[in-house]
Amino acid sequence: MTQQHNTHAIVIGGSLAGLWTARVLSDHFDRVTILERDQFPEGAAHRPGTPQDKHIHILLERGATIMNKLFPGIGEELLAAGASHIDLTLEARTKMRGHWMPRFASGRKSYACSRILLESMIRSRVAGLPNVMLRGGARVQGLVTQGERIIGVRVRWREDGEEHFESADFVVDASGRGSKTPHWLAALGYAQPEETVIDARLGYASRHYRAPQGTSFDWHTLGVGQYAPDQTRAGLIFTAEDGHWMVLLAGIMGDYPPTEPDAFNAFAKEIDPKFYAALQSAEPISNIVGYRRTENRWRHYERLERWPDRFVVIGDATCGFNPIYGQGMTVAAIAAEALDKAFRRARGRIDGVGQRYQNDYAKVADPAWLLSASTDLEWLGQSSATKPAERFAGWYMPKLLDTVVFDRTVHLAFIGVINLSEPVTSLFRPTIVARVLRHWWQTRKQQDSAEMTSASVPLHA
Ligand SMILES: Cc1cc2nc3c(=O)[nH]c(=O)nc-3n(C[C@H](O)[C@H](O)[C@H](O)COP(=O)(O)OP(=O)(O)OC[C@H]3O[C@@H](n4cnc5c(N)ncnc54)[C@H](O)[C@@H]3O)c2cc1C
Repeated sequence: MTQQHNTHAIVIGGSLAGLWTARVLSDHFDRVTILERDQFPEGAAHRPGTPQDKHIHILLERGATIMNKLFPGIGEELLAAGASHIDLTLEARTKMRGHWMPRFASGRKSYACSRILLESMIRSRVAGLPNVMLRGGARVQGLVTQGERIIGVRVRWREDGEEHFESADFVVDASGRGSKTPHWLAALGYAQPEETVIDARLGYASRHYRAPQGTSFDWHTLGVGQYAPDQTRAGLIFTAEDGHWMVLLAGIMGDYPPTEPDAFNAFAKEIDPKFYAALQSAEPISNIVGYRRTENRWRHYERLERWPDRFVVIGDATCGFNPIYGQGMTVAAIAAEALDKAFRRARGRIDGVGQRYQNDYAKVADPAWLLSASTDLEWLGQSSATKPAERFAGWYMPKLLDTVVFDRTVHLAFIGVINLSEPVTSLFRPTIVARVLRHWWQTRKQQDSAEMTSASVPLHA
């Protein structure tokens, strides 16, 4: 607990990063207020501030573990509401790098349900905390400082259109990719953060379908992945909590999936025959919604020399990932856990936690960044890498992914890492590297001998 009395923390943004963070801060502050510009809907419903909630979301194993720790019993509540807790290696049928993957139990489970269900259940748990208040219709307009310390925020309330000052002992910006912190800091005389952007120009188009009646499928999820350099199109069919299918088409390198029905179908047809056949057996029941703001974008607040005390930026507001890898909610959960640790280490002191934490945040985001960026670099080319680790991962990851398809040991290691449960370094263990390089070498030898054979065939043969 804090040494001061009646301490108050403000969290800007009431989406996933804001909710995880508010839960954690409720253990360290007397009061926590979430300020969200949207009015919160009743139950599981869409709201404008989270346009991504119309698209498939999966909570990876590490995020699921943290969720169950922060909100004991919530996993069962989700299952009772129709969510699935699935081993994607077993219950998904997945085509990766042009091959249908072997199915086996990896022991790693993710939560699969609509994003609106997940967010509403977490929100209702947070709303039930005695010292947390959720306030909708509150658009934060700026930060307020005293000396080098943040002492609150300026808020415009929807109900009266007036701007008010809300005081706080600690402020967290969890306002997503559109965060105004760079401008707010500039207005207070602070430097703007450097940004790293890796943009493979991926687009989403999603539609709901009524699953075919009387036909049973041996999968919960059917997915076909992109495969550089030619297969720019990917598709995913995912069984939501109401039994309907959520269908996602994705295209990379500017091959954006269309939102007009005939063109949507034509795009789907080019993904894979099995995928297309499944889609054709189902009945569309919604319009098609597109999404294109998918670049990996890191605002490097950790590099700023001057930083206002008692303030942190968390979630997509700091580091947003290409969503196709399903990492954002889990990274935000890991970041909230790290903030909890930072306050525990500080033993009741608030001063200094913010700046130290912003450095911790970089360590939290780095593994997910490396996975996401290196996979996109296969499309963009190594010259788009911004640091040596990215360049090396960009060279190694495609070889690892080629091996995953055929080698269960490498596959298992990979599944642990992409679930953010195991460190990325585990993909560089000597046993894994040896398997990857052996597979790469054998494939090259086969390709070379195939080329030599075709080159030596006489033209008139
Ligand atoms: C298409 C798509 C698919 C995705 N799929 C997955 C997935 O499968 N798995 C996964 O883990 N992640 C996925 N993500 C990422 C995930 O949605 C985010 O990482 C997650 O929501 C955490 O984001 P956030 O809370 O930081 O920001 P956001 O979710 O963007 O929320 C920001 C919140 O701040 C509010 N806000 C903004 N400005 C203000 C202001 N000035 N004052 C008050 N409130 C404000 C907004 O209204 C909003 O509620 C996906 C993202 C997209 C775009």
